[in-house]
Amino acid sequence: MNTLIKNGLIISSNGRFEGDVLIEEDRIVSVKEKINIEETGTTEIIEAKGKYVFPGVIDPHTHLEMPCRGTYSSDDFRTGTIAAACGGTTSLIDFELVAPDKTTKEAFSAKHKLASEKSVIDYGFHASYSVFNKQINSELYDVVNSYGSPNFKLYTTYDFKVNDKALINFMLRAAELGAIVQLHSENNAIINIMNEKFEKEKNLGVEYHPRSRPNIAEEEAVSRAIAFAKFTNAELYIVHISTKEALRKTIQARKEGLNVYVETCPQYLILDETCYETKGWDAAKYVISPPLRDRESCNALWEAIASGNIDTIGSDHCPFFLNGTKDIFGKNDYKKILGGAPGVETLLMLLHSEGVLKGKISLEKMVEVLSTNTARLFGMNNKGEITVGKDADIVIFDPKQKYTISYKTLHMNVDYNPYEGKEVTGMPYMVFSRGKKVAQWNKDKVEFLGQAGNGKFIHRKPFKPL
Ligand code: MN
Ligand code: MN
Repeated sequence: MNTLIKNGLIISSNGRFEGDVLIEEDRIVSVKEKINIEETGTTEIIEAKGKYVFPGVIDPHTHLEMPCRGTYSSDDFRTGTIAAACGGTTSLIDFELVAPDKTTKEAFSAKHKLASEKSVIDYGFHASYSVFNKQINSELYDVVNSYGSPNFKLYTTYDFKVNDKALINFMLRAAELGAIVQLHSENNAIINIMNEKFEKEKNLGVEYHPRSRPNIAEEEAVSRAIAFAKFTNAELYIVHISTKEALRKTIQARKEGLNVYVETCPQYLILDETCYETKGWDAAKYVISPPLRDRESCNALWEAIASGNIDTIGSDHCPFFLNGTKDIFGKNDYKKILGGAPGVETLLMLLHSEGVLKGKISLEKMVEVLSTNTARLFGMNNKGEITVGKDADIVIFDPKQKYTISYKTLHMNVDYNPYEGKEVTGMPYMVFSRGKKVAQWNKDKVEFLGQAGNGKFIHRKPFKPL
């Protein structure tokens, strides 16, 4: 079946024009100013005058049904990808922490089963590791070249943190294989020392969560990782950067010609540390790591997107019920609150409303950091652009549609939203995943129209710098 999208404003990372897009089965087969209906054999014509047409969002950072301290993040591959689709996201890459006694192949095969049955949009996996050993060293070749996951994620904090030697070894191997190392960067010793101090002082309220993870913890870990990238010549990707100080280090490193890529998330752009002043248990909504920061950091991050110093935006979607899950170990100690927040569905609406409409970034930049760059960095060669031959992952976006954010009308499986009550302008009007309509605006919210199991694994290719 063919679908012709007429008269939309087609936005790419390097410009815009009013024109038509023709979809045949699951591919884009024509993009030009005017496509004649007679030529196409079209069965469905969609009028998109006054609307934007751009590539589906690619979320490089989600945690669906992630095991965490005896429970799981509350969105699985069905609810999480339904929410993604309704927000205009047509691909996501989810993390899998490979236990030291398992192979990546075993870990991935369990994940393939979960995702292939439930997913409504296309998906990929990032492997993450806590130790470096001979077996992993040899398996990394296959992870990059056969398993379609040419990058790996490491942490400098949490129980599964890597030590410096392992980090360097992973980077050396990544450099050999043409893989990217993604890093959650916070200095674990600083966090431990702050935790011990607050424990002794009996300062355990939610407001001590951000104080236990100060800006310098991120700055230190990012600086160290940059030094190791310089030593190993590895491609380094800093996930969810949150502070102006760490950002400054990455900008400096890029000036020196190092291959340092940077991701941030809407929460670090839009929300700030004043959220922790929220009274009572409600502040636990914002217990995420890294924590929300000062307003200067938010501003610096927006500027860095505009100036090309931030490459991608991910959601770090990791929802837990505020009442019933975040509190399973009690409400009286910030360290026991399950960390994470929902975000996969609100990524695009927030970037547009808070970024584009407030004049902080252009539409083209929005498309670049939400889709085009993400596809390029993570080797998704059929995604990220509205051009002939690419997968028909397309958002038709109504820039005037208003919507008031509420967990009640969003699709994420969780009992709150960090932006509850916030009005945004601009919402997905229709969303296509490989040519199939998966979501559509209906009266006052986006309605899901896709089908579980339609999502396919994206076999990604190693990144080649331009
Ligand atoms: Mn993280
Ligand atoms: Mn994360």
